Amino acid sequence: MAQNPPPPASKPPQKKPDALAPMRTPRFWITLAILFVANILISNVLFSAGQPPTVTISYNSFLDQVNAGNVASITSTGESITGVAKQPVKDSSGTSSTKFQTQRPSFANDDLQAMLQQHNVVINAKDPNASTPLWETLLFSFGPTILLVLGFLYLSRRAASAGAGGILGSFGQSRARLYDAERPSVSFADVAGIDEVKADLQEVVDFLREPQKYQRLGGTMPKGVLLIGAPGTGKTLLARAVAGEAKVPFFSIAASEFVEAIVGVGASRVRDLFTKARAAAPAIIFIDELDAIGRSRSAGVRLGGNDEQEQTLNQILTEMDGFDSREGVIVLAATNRADVLDPALLRPGRFDRRITVQAPDRPGRAAILRIHTRNVPLAADVDLDQIAQQTPGMVGADLKNLVNEAALGAARKGETAVTLADFTDAIERILLGTQRKIILTPADRERIAYHESGHALLGLIVPGADPVKKVTIVPRGQALGVTLQSPVDDRFNYGEDYLRARMVGALGGRAAEKLVYGVVTTGAENDLMQVTRIAQQMVVRWGMSPKVGPLNYAEPDGNPFQQRPYGDGTANLIDEEVRRISEECLADAEKLLSEHRKQLDALAQSLLKNDSLDEGQILDVTGIKPSAVAAAKPTDAQLVKAPST
Ligand code: ADP
Ligand code: ZN
Ligand code: MG
Repeated sequence: MAQNPPPPASKPPQKKPDALAPMRTPRFWITLAILFVANILISNVLFSAGQPPTVTISYNSFLDQVNAGNVASITSTGESITGVAKQPVKDSSGTSSTKFQTQRPSFANDDLQAMLQQHNVVINAKDPNASTPLWETLLFSFGPTILLVLGFLYLSRRAASAGAGGILGSFGQSRARLYDAERPSVSFADVAGIDEVKADLQEVVDFLREPQKYQRLGGTMPKGVLLIGAPGTGKTLLARAVAGEAKVPFFSIAASEFVEAIVGVGASRVRDLFTKARAAAPAIIFIDELDAIGRSRSAGVRLGGNDEQEQTLNQILTEMDGFDSREGVIVLAATNRADVLDPALLRPGRFDRRITVQAPDRPGRAAILRIHTRNVPLAADVDLDQIAQQTPGMVGADLKNLVNEAALGAARKGETAVTLADFTDAIERILLGTQRKIILTPADRERIAYHESGHALLGLIVPGADPVKKVTIVPRGQALGVTLQSPVDDRFNYGEDYLRARMVGALGGRAAEKLVYGVVTTGAENDLMQVTRIAQQMVVRWGMSPKVGPLNYAEPDGNPFQQRPYGDGTANLIDEEVRRISEECLADAEKLLSEHRKQLDALAQSLLKNDSLDEGQILDVTGIKPSAVAAAKPTDAQLVKAPST
């Protein structure tokens, strides 16, 4: 498979207060279990406590006992007889007791009464239709249930008064602690690479420091500031840094906590939070992951709905309407996606100021690396600018992780400082996944070598393709082999030729297999997924199909229930065009590889021998010179251009 950055953004583990914590403590379940068992015991055992068990015996053996003179008394209710024996009697299973019961068959023709009298058995009789007293019936039938319900009520009251803390009192933290203000020690100096965002937030800091100064001139601050950006770009960090800079208390909640919470908890927490923050003003309230509850209510994707989200969201809106920013409270919120937010949140007087947090560019990445290596001893060969160049697409959290991985690697090797090699290893590990030990047959290895060589070679010879940094047939992560191509630097705009080069490269694996073996394998699944996605977007998003036209038919927020904005005819046309583009790319890949068959063989053989090749080795083996690649551009460009339809 061909693999290109960006790598997945990683998120640091966050400690969140947990609304369902009481339900998750073992104590909760133990208590419930005890209650349940007690319940059964009460209904079964308690009422017969202190009495011997009753054994059931056959009518024959009952008669025998009577004849043997062992029966003291009997009580009959209709045809059923219970009695007390002088010596314990045994039932069929061997249990013995002085209390027994039996059933007299209705066809019994014996003179039981005479027999009983003859053996001096006391005879009691009960009216079979007499009902047991009402209180007894009620106690036996509803008692256990009532007990269970009472017990449950008791538990939930304890839970409510203990907040998210332990359900049995004294355990865990109390609800009040959740909203204790934090006083973050981070400042803007800990945030790098997003200077324009810092400048925007500086105003918020100034306001919180001296609210009076801003009010004097009659201006009002926005109540809410929404930070929008991909995961790991530093939104949470920024919010904390604002509080740290302004030296004000920081009250934070993550909206995702409410998604599964017990109904009503979210709203009451929000109320608490705002009350506490207003009492502590000037202060910051931070709502993280706002999209978790703030999703547009009209989006229709919410099958089944979620009352809790809705209530929490409404409470946030109510609270935001209910205070004045002059009080000195500013609500910051963070989201990965602003496009799915409920419009009500974005109305004036709510989150009317929006700040986009971009992924850092190359100098930004270097600055972030500098921050995270402040306490890491670096070897002389480490050049953070160079590492920044090798990590396009990585965001702050990734870079932090990268430094950490490199430092761990260095420690494992027993080094005293982190070297460039440690960083290179860490980048590879992050981009390619960790190596996996699986045994492959020689035939499989060869096939994988050709597959990866196909990717790598096309990456070299197709103009506009990203340079090939590494190719390996050591299984890593989910892949059996990997070709790593990494862009020269961040790209913000992709040309059609670049997209086609990506597709041709991605199909290189399959094309090589077809060319060499004449058969195809499942190994190209990921490659095909990439190709399909790019081709589809070219047609429906970027207007790159002359037949479909310069139109954007993409679904706005990936909502599958939305009506397609085009008819069946266009749908068919789109399918056709996606297919045409992919097939053209595969044809190009096959053509190019058969023209460069010698280099393909050389690359595959070298891979089989060495497992992995880096950029220099690949150029060596294939005899392709980087300058030659550049020079070849104009002629080869013909190949990857779409034949005009
Ligand atoms: P987000 O909230 O956007 O998902 P976080 O603020 O949680 O991202 O970022 C996670 C970590 O990554 C931060 O704690 C910080 O260490 C690091 N980080 C992210 N962005 C930056 C940045 N711009 N400068 C310095 N460190 C950053
Ligand atoms: Zn592949
Ligand atoms: Mg965050």
